[in-house]
Amino acid sequence: ADGVVDAVAGALDQADRVRRLEVRANADTPEDAARARRFGAQGIGLCRTEHMFLGDRRQLVEAMILAHTDAERERALDALLPLQRADFVGILTAMDGLPVTIRLLDPPLHEFLPDHTELAVRVATAARPDPHDVALLDAVERMHESNPMLGLRGVRLGLVVPGLVAMQVRAVAEAVVECRRSGGHPRAEIMVPLIATVEELRLVREEVERVLAEVSASSGLTVDCPVGTMIELPRAALTAGGIAAEAEFFSFGTNDLTQTTWGFSRDDVEAAFFSAYLAKGVFPVSPFETIDRQGVGRLVESAVAEGRAARPDLTIGVCGEHGGNPESVRFFHDAGLDYVSCSPFRVPVARLEAGRAAIAAGDGPGAAV
Ligand code: PEP
Ligand code: MG
Repeated sequence: ADGVVDAVAGALDQADRVRRLEVRANADTPEDAARARRFGAQGIGLCRTEHMFLGDRRQLVEAMILAHTDAERERALDALLPLQRADFVGILTAMDGLPVTIRLLDPPLHEFLPDHTELAVRVATAARPDPHDVALLDAVERMHESNPMLGLRGVRLGLVVPGLVAMQVRAVAEAVVECRRSGGHPRAEIMVPLIATVEELRLVREEVERVLAEVSASSGLTVDCPVGTMIELPRAALTAGGIAAEAEFFSFGTNDLTQTTWGFSRDDVEAAFFSAYLAKGVFPVSPFETIDRQGVGRLVESAVAEGRAARPDLTIGVCGEHGGNPESVRFFHDAGLDYVSCSPFRVPVARLEAGRAAIAAGDGPGAAV
């Protein structure tokens, strides 16, 4: 067994010497971040903040989204702020010195709202319905969506719920201050999900800059986080040149980009029609697994070209599931990305594949010119 371990370590070492793609991990907790680091991740390419709003915090999230008054919403946001700050201190500490891309909240809304049917039954069957339940039902009905994955998610939620972006950015900035005061070297980046138009990014960016300036002034430390965006809608990919003007980095969200390019719901990839399609050979493997070079791949290539033309120093990565899929890693190398980000357990495979891709293309850092 030791021989195998040594052989794997040797292969990884060799791959690391030749590869040009950086390999980061998708991790949302300090434990996952530490694991990713042990597997050789060079940063966190995607820290999803959704899970930080579940469990005990659901009540606060409900109050924030369904608030009837500004005061109610502000109270919920004030209560969430220190919890978020502690989340970010944990993950920045685990990844000290390495980049951590923190993505602003991107939940499908129905995951956070109370169950509509349950609530409706409770109101309908109560002898005297609780006024709180009645108001809640009314709010939930107003926000009900037929297609939550195409609904009030990502940047849309951030722009619709006043104070949400500011709370998350303040939590990031205050966590950076706290880590620096304890002698750390936190490198937080802020990433905006589900952008379709540069206007959305511009609005969020203004908010980010305002909050960073406030925290810098009150702490006496200059807090400066790069701001970038996910590219996960065809419209964003097709207008990448304009979007690059407001983004320091791009990260392709190929899960959503596959869903929206094909018009297949991510939630239904296990559905009967999908396997029938696979069996008929409409596609040889699921496009959610291996990058679809003809469709999604071309959107990626065009966005890379437009983005870099507009901003030559633009950093570009991918953080969809494809980031850890061997064939897709080769594609991302050839497309000229700077990094792939995948789940911690797939980091070693991504390192190997990035090395093989550089050798196959003859353009790793050690390649002869
Ligand atoms: C994606 O869409 O590829 C992505 C990484 O974001 P999420 O899976 O969280 O939607
Ligand atoms: Mg996504």
